[in-house]
Amino acid sequence: MYLEELFSLKGKAALVTGAGRGIGQVVALGLAKAGAAIVIFSRTGADETVRLIEDAGGKALSLIVDVTSEEQVDKGLAEMMEFAGPPDVVFNNAGICIHKDTFGATIDQWRQVIDINLTGEYIVARAAGKIMHERGIRGSIINMASMSGTVVNVPQWQASYNASKAGVIHMTRSLAVEWAQYGIRVNSISPGYINTPMSADTPKELRDAWMPLIPQNRMGEPEELMPAILYLASGASGYTTGSDIIVDGGYAAR
Ligand code: NDP
Repeated sequence: MYLEELFSLKGKAALVTGAGRGIGQVVALGLAKAGAAIVIFSRTGADETVRLIEDAGGKALSLIVDVTSEEQVDKGLAEMMEFAGPPDVVFNNAGICIHKDTFGATIDQWRQVIDINLTGEYIVARAAGKIMHERGIRGSIINMASMSGTVVNVPQWQASYNASKAGVIHMTRSLAVEWAQYGIRVNSISPGYINTPMSADTPKELRDAWMPLIPQNRMGEPEELMPAILYLASGASGYTTGSDIIVDGGYAAR
């Protein structure tokens, strides 16, 4: 009972970006099962995720919001407040990856990756953090980083992605230190290779090349991120802020 209460999100409102599929979908469902009402931001909608949450007895709303647009994010948060109240938890998950070597990639592709992965997370964290601060909410913001923010995983070349995720880890620490005075906690999670539509888009030869480099010799499942995310989202992590939790089968430890 004690642990159940410690990890409970009953009565909380959680914003999850990019939860139409992949990691975001699994985490949105997990946070709903822990008791939170869920609001999802994505560009193409998350009806399937909403259905899964409702079937599990939860409450969810999908909004079309591009996280790179301040205006859309502000409007989305206003709609969230009508539906579920102000955010107590934010899982800042939306992201993309472009595998291109540096001479082959365009500057536009670099900008696109930084814009969604780093600036998008900043826009959402800043807007949600402002609401938390104004209302005295001791909220938790969890930013999606990656092991690629700590190590340069090979053999694919993805300098823009690696730089964006390293930026997320240090932005997280910066916001954590700045907002500790308001009781708002900010942490990041850094997965290794996880089975999702994003990784399934990767050619098989590349995925085969990853395996011997992963100490556990397998990819992770989105469900294996859930315990760390629930820890960061809930009161269980009350004294944890500015941290990055790596969940990567040992990749970054080599
Ligand atoms: P998916 O491609 O399966 O899902 C990404 C989600 O992000 C989609 O729902 C997409 O929805 C949304 N999204 C993308 N751009 C935007 C935008 N501008 N505004 C709003 N939503 C957006 O990816 P994963 O589930 O694999 O990855 C999720 C996160 O985890 C990413 O940040 C990724 O970098 C990170 N990660 C993934 C790893 C992996 O191995 N899979 C490993 C480490 C980190 P829509 O297109 O509808 O907008």
